[in-house]
Amino acid sequence: RPLVSLRGVTKTFSTGTTALAGVDLDIAPGEFISLLGPSGCGKSTVLRMLAGLADPSTGTIDWPQARVDGAGRPDLDMSFVFQEATLMPWGTVARNVWLPLRLKGLSMKAARPRIDEALEMVGLGGFADAYPRELSGGMKMRVSIARALVTRPVVMLMDEPFAALDEITRQKLNDDLLRLWETFGWTVVFVTHSVFEAVYLSQRVMVMAARPGRIIDGIDVDRAEETP
Ligand code: ADP
Ligand code: ADP
Repeated sequence: RPLVSLRGVTKTFSTGTTALAGVDLDIAPGEFISLLGPSGCGKSTVLRMLAGLADPSTGTIDWPQARVDGAGRPDLDMSFVFQEATLMPWGTVARNVWLPLRLKGLSMKAARPRIDEALEMVGLGGFADAYPRELSGGMKMRVSIARALVTRPVVMLMDEPFAALDEITRQKLNDDLLRLWETFGWTVVFVTHSVFEAVYLSQRVMVMAARPGRIIDGIDVDRAEETP
């Protein structure tokens, strides 16, 4: 059974823009899937819908494995990583990573072991007391990933997380993300406009058309790999 199932999902904004014109998509638990397509094709809109931050105009989003509330939101822990690391500049790395646990009512003292563990997982063990301004772009993104994983999510929603980074940093983060995915068994939905990144990272690539905002093909990357 899929973790989530989208059927005939459309989205037309009040501005008249149609972002999605009928999306059918099943995502399996533990799958690493990419949504690939040019800017404006509706990738972020799909991600926002999965996060419960936007509702379809028509169509359905079902979570067959989860309990859903009245608004259709599943009782699954989901984390979102954006292209901008969106760190609070006035807080240390540890305080930034604390934020989602703080929202769940954990004190810094109670959260600290998990914060340190999360920072270790992203290779920033020594940086708990640093401030964002002291970090490179790649390290800020690592903090952002630590903040996303500290809640031990089931689903990791990533919206072009590495698009602003240089190629070498990006490739390091790609490899670290794969290692984390293998470690934690997240379901990752990764939005990108890089063909290379989509194919390198994911088990399945859903290619989206710019107009009229629909999935035009799905590529099973694992099966496409050359066999000796
Ligand atoms: P992508 O992530 O592929 O770049 P988006 O999902 O962000 O695409 O946007 C798809 C289309 O919907 C674009 O034309 C965008 O301008 C439009 N759009 C996105 N969000 C809104 C909004 N809140 N109001 C109006 N139009 C929007
Ligand atoms: P970028 O490539 O954007 O500068 P990186 O994540 O590759 O970002 O790290 C930048 C620099 O910080 C590199 O020189 C790297 O060796 C160093 N660095 C990154 N993580 C650590 C760490 N955990 N401990 C010490 N140095 C680190």
